[in-house]
Amino acid sequence: MSDTLFTKIINREIPAEIIHEDDLSLAFKDINPQAPVHFLVIPKKPIATINDIEEADRELIGHLYVVAARLAEKMGFAEEGYRAVMNCNPYGGQTVYHLHLHVLAGKPLGWPPY
Ligand code: AMP
Repeated sequence: MSDTLFTKIINREIPAEIIHEDDLSLAFKDINPQAPVHFLVIPKKPIATINDIEEADRELIGHLYVVAARLAEKMGFAEEGYRAVMNCNPYGGQTVYHLHLHVLAGKPLGWPPY
């Protein structure tokens, strides 16, 4: 898989507002927020889409949700509620082919999301 925008953010080749980093993941604010709070949690491992997740990635994918949940508590919107979603391929609305968990919060979110 060739380097995407998000690998460049991991490598600090392009700037981002990073709010969390650990050995496995990075979280940063979305450049085009769709809610008062909108950040992305990504694995450092470059997995292109949900379809490319393998058995060996179980813990890593779980970790992304743990990071999202801890940030929700820390940032104070856990009780109020939020959405944590991944888009997959064109019909899912995916535009960057490095797996990412969108975390949206700060207002009541509509459903269905179209
Ligand atoms: P998706 O459409 O699910 O692939 O989501 C990609 C997200 O990445 C979009 O919400 C974009 O606004 C966001 N994005 C694109 N470029 C950047 C960037 N340089 N820094 C932060 N977020 C970005």
